[in-house]
Amino acid sequence: MPSHDAVVVGGGLSGLTAGLALAESGADVALLAKGMAASHWVHGGIDIADSGQASSSAAAAAALASLPGHPYAVLADDLPAAVAEALRRLADAGLPYRGGLDAPLEWIPTAIGGLRRAAILPDGQATVLDPWEADEGLLLVGVERYRDFWAGYAARNLAAAEWPGGPARVHAAVVELPGLARLRNLTPLVIARLFDDPVWRRSAWPLIRQAVPAGRWRIGVPAVLGLDRHAEVLAEAVRELGPVFEMPSLPPSVPGIRLHDALRRRFEASGGRLEIGFGVTGVERSAGAVAALETAAAGRPRRVAAGVFVLATGGLAGGGLRGLPGGKLEETVFGLPVSSPSADRWFSGEPLGDGVELERAGIRVNADLRPLDTAGRVVLDNVLVVGSELSGMRYLSERCGDGVALASGHRAGRLIGVGQRATATTTTTTTTRRTAS
Ligand SMILES: Cc1cc2nc3c(=O)[nH]c(=O)nc-3n(C[C@H](O)[C@H](O)[C@H](O)COP(=O)(O)OP(=O)(O)OC[C@H]3O[C@@H](n4cnc5c(N)ncnc54)[C@H](O)[C@@H]3O)c2cc1C
Repeated sequence: MPSHDAVVVGGGLSGLTAGLALAESGADVALLAKGMAASHWVHGGIDIADSGQASSSAAAAAALASLPGHPYAVLADDLPAAVAEALRRLADAGLPYRGGLDAPLEWIPTAIGGLRRAAILPDGQATVLDPWEADEGLLLVGVERYRDFWAGYAARNLAAAEWPGGPARVHAAVVELPGLARLRNLTPLVIARLFDDPVWRRSAWPLIRQAVPAGRWRIGVPAVLGLDRHAEVLAEAVRELGPVFEMPSLPPSVPGIRLHDALRRRFEASGGRLEIGFGVTGVERSAGAVAALETAAAGRPRRVAAGVFVLATGGLAGGGLRGLPGGKLEETVFGLPVSSPSADRWFSGEPLGDGVELERAGIRVNADLRPLDTAGRVVLDNVLVVGSELSGMRYLSERCGDGVALASGHRAGRLIGVGQRATATTTTTTTTRRTAS
């Protein structure tokens, strides 16, 4: 029966951040996740907060912290150290990011030709943050047969958009890259792996260069500049093409996978134990605390005991919450009370505008990240809740999901600290088995 100082359930940005903080402080920590994380779907940048008006992420996060019930109301103090630590870890892992909490939020183009604001981007995307010179144009280069990046469509939208301080002109080109004609299912991962091959890309650069018209251009390409050898591919792209930046498109997100892989590798190198692929199927309780979890390991259930548990299961999008008939929401691991607007208001709001009310659903916690019931009492003393599983935010419109994941993961690591050995006894235990979701 494996027994750990701490077990983290969930392998996204919040779970890995908590796991890393614990592993780096010397704790024996295991991370269990039933599957991949939101990072595999999103852009690979780090969104802390954006109100649309605030000049920096720090200012936008401070505004959110003043909203009652918002996670930042509890987490704001952890944000600076959490962001600094995340950027340090990523740089150490060979995936440097540019920007920070106080960096200005700049308008950047999306792959469909919209605009959004960003302040912290991986180096592969960060060149887009540089100010545009008066004679500098944006050239979007698409790839023939790759259907998730329509350079012409995006360029038309961007040319018509109100882009404050944007480029002098926007053009599009589509290039035929070697060897793609024989491939049926052209995902960004397939093209990124081709770019990892130095021989293949030697034949790709001249084809892209030929598509660049005369004049001064900054080049936007789909986010496919290598997976495992991204730093090498990016440096070569800049040498071969000049200023170039990646634009994330439809999932799977190559920049998000790089981010996840960098943190995962670091977690394992710090001594953390990672098990991806098995959901939690049962919970063993003892004296008002959790003693152990049961996972659906191959062949037979496996019991994993620990002194403390971090719930990082990602809310509705991650699988940490699910809807039940009758307009109820269930927390899928411990059965914790879910704080949610009433079912008749779930879908009020504008999904692509300020978001819908249902997004606020999650687990309400105290300043120690302990889950609370409706009366404000701690439900399980040795469980901490982090990331998008927390209630009270609308991460899509507030653009605060990554910042909340980092700050809460950081706080969980700080609160648990080193040497918290298993405290629960196994004398009076009850085990609850949950239906696999
Ligand atoms: C499509 C999409 C777009 C988004 N866009 C943005 C954006 O633009 N800006 C922004 O700030 N945020 C965005 N977010 C929010 C994003 O979720 C957060 O930014 C952050 O990455 C969430 O991290 P997390 O660790 O809390 O959860 P997740 O990354 O969702 O990770 C949850 C983990 O828990 C595991 N899990 C779930 N249930 C169980 C179980 N029962 N047993 C074991 N493991 C389990 C999952 O397999 C996964 O590993 C977006 C989310 C989605 C889904």
